[in-house]
Amino acid sequence: MSRPSRPHLPMRPLWRCRVCGSDWPCQPARLALLVEYRNDRTALMLYLSALLAEAGAQLSQLNGEAPPEGLTERFLGWARAR
Ligand SMILES: [Zn+2]
Repeated sequence: MSRPSRPHLPMRPLWRCRVCGSDWPCQPARLALLVEYRNDRTALMLYLSALLAEAGAQLSQLNGEAPPEGLTERFLGWARAR
């Protein structure tokens, strides 16, 4: 049973959602971020860029190699203004 009020936050250093287990940002997390930053897309992109840098560093350390492919798209692709 999932409780809708529980925030979908990333589990470091795996960067999977604590609630649904998907790669973060999962769909509910994206929606919540879009709502939270609805008036400031620039701040959202800055926030996601910072998380992307952190995730890239942690994931590449875990794998012992370069960050996973598509990480930039995963963090930033969905949030870009269309
Ligand atoms: Zn989730």
